[in-house]
Amino acid sequence: MFKAIVVTEDSGKLTAEIKEISDSDLPNREVLVKVDFSTLNYKDGLALTGSAPVITSFPMVPGIDLAGTVLESADARWSAGDKVVVNGWGLSERHWGGYSQHARVSPDWLVKLPGAFTTRQAMAIGTAGYTAMLCVLRLESLGVVPDGGPVLVTGASGGVGSIAIAILNKLGYEVVASTGRISEAKYLKALGAGEIIDRNTLSAKNTNPMQEERWQGAVDTVGSETLVNVLAGIRYGGAVAATGLAQGVDLPANLFPFILRDITLSGVDSVMQPFSVREHAWTRLASDLDPKKLESTTNEVALSEVLALAPRILAGQVRGRTIVDVNS
Ligand code: NDP
Repeated sequence: MFKAIVVTEDSGKLTAEIKEISDSDLPNREVLVKVDFSTLNYKDGLALTGSAPVITSFPMVPGIDLAGTVLESADARWSAGDKVVVNGWGLSERHWGGYSQHARVSPDWLVKLPGAFTTRQAMAIGTAGYTAMLCVLRLESLGVVPDGGPVLVTGASGGVGSIAIAILNKLGYEVVASTGRISEAKYLKALGAGEIIDRNTLSAKNTNPMQEERWQGAVDTVGSETLVNVLAGIRYGGAVAATGLAQGVDLPANLFPFILRDITLSGVDSVMQPFSVREHAWTRLASDLDPKKLESTTNEVALSEVLALAPRILAGQVRGRTIVDVNS
């Protein structure tokens, strides 16, 4: 028997609790993994609290990512002892996820743990850090370059934001961090932000779609009016990688900055990326993320603490990355 968080549903009401389950309770998939760590992300907060319909199949073991060691594999690509990472692929939506000491997963979902990382470091990165890397890769592909001017990161103190700042800084970009927590300025500067701006300057209803051209690019984790104001301040030819919705899912923008400034808004999804993209992102994380900065973003909690933290991450009260030690 081992411990897992299990979410059940009764007449629309979700209950999340720690239960003792066994391997025979796990879904019937080819690879059995002994999980070392999972993480807490914004989406986990939504799933655990039921604030958004993330979970579509009950009962559900949530946790959108995990890192650990293969115990058994019926697929020749994986063997007992392999260190692996899984994120996305519908974990915590349609498939059981990482808040469990054992997990059964599809062999197609696994990525070999890059040699540079322990399983703990892989989950310090987790879905948020991997998504931050995808955003930086997207900006690169759209012509954003280190000496091309400042790059803005919104939701800067959060998981995606913190890791995006650290990566961009290591790559030589001038980074501007937008945060509602000015008290975290020291933390954000240590990660590599050269300038901090108050998120209230971006979150109000946009009245001018063509504001002063301030940033060559942006990683946006916030959406809604913030994203509209970000688009209004992007320099001619610049690009925005949009991945999050912490302020909202709406986008009340108009076309002027796109057709008069030749800018690009590119959506970034972490869940369904093909294997080659995942492998490339993890390889780049091994070279482009300073391990000391990664550690400075990290807070480690036990499985039993996750339930209390879920509403706090939705309220924007959790800084950086939260690693979940499922065995403590
Ligand atoms: P976090 O909660 O760690 O970070 C979100 C940050 O956004 C907060 O720390 C806060 O930063 C800011 N924020 C919170 N509420 C508001 C608000 N009402 N208005 C403006 N800013 C706000 O979440 P993650 O980093 O894990 O995820 C960030 C976003 O990206 C989420 O929306 C998540 O769902 C999305 N995401 C999407 C993925 C995909 O595949 N598309 C993958 C991963 C994440 P501060 O205090 O500094 O202002």
